[in-house]
Amino acid sequence: MNKTKREAIFARFEQANPKPTTELEYASVFQLLIAVILSAQATDKSVNLATRALFKSHGTPKKMLALGVTGLTPYIKTIGLFRTKAKNVIATCQALVEQHNNEVPRSREALEALPGVGRKTANVVLNTAFGEPTMAVDTHIYRVSNRTGIAPGKTVLAVEKALEKFVPAQYQLNAHHWLILHGRYVCMARTPKCEVCAIADLCEYKPKDKTTAKKTAAKKVIKKAIKKVTKKVLKITSKKLTA
Ligand code: SF4
Repeated sequence: MNKTKREAIFARFEQANPKPTTELEYASVFQLLIAVILSAQATDKSVNLATRALFKSHGTPKKMLALGVTGLTPYIKTIGLFRTKAKNVIATCQALVEQHNNEVPRSREALEALPGVGRKTANVVLNTAFGEPTMAVDTHIYRVSNRTGIAPGKTVLAVEKALEKFVPAQYQLNAHHWLILHGRYVCMARTPKCEVCAIADLCEYKPKDKTTAKKTAAKKVIKKAIKKVTKKVLKITSKKLTA
């Protein structure tokens, strides 16, 4: 994809949504951090449902730490992987209280040293709370970046680096929010809504037509069957030879 197309795409995203942000609900950097930890492999909606009650009564590192894993679990048990997340959240609260004076650190290194915080979570916090132009590549951004041709890459990190390189400077801060929202509501995994997509004329996605897809599937079935028969014949032949 060329520079002009990328600029046009982000200009349209900006026009449609000038101030994009996360759909996670939070009232402090600490709450954002906890919400992002909880959102791994879960929807923002399910996280918001759980954190509304949790943040109301235990919205600071000290108060959440006081809950312990047992006290925290009932609040988050509707979220996937809640057992591991409960342990990580409490361990993170402990680190914030003991090592960071109850504050969320601003450096990537210190963030990634917190339990349950990986590169993506650190990127979300650095971007959304501290205004740094980081790219938090999730499944939606990975798909949209590759599909459209905006920032192709074979791994999440490769896409992150490609976005840093190719997204025009003035759109870097908001780029990951626009791409997440676009992937979540328009450029969906199975059935992208190309017919209503605002960047359809600029997108370089080439969907496989149904006939090609069917032919590929049929070829796979035949190949598997041949492999199975060959294996059987070889087995019978070797039995006969040893008899
Ligand atoms: S045209 Fe289709 S594939 Fe391209 S970005 Fe829009 S929805 Fe996605």
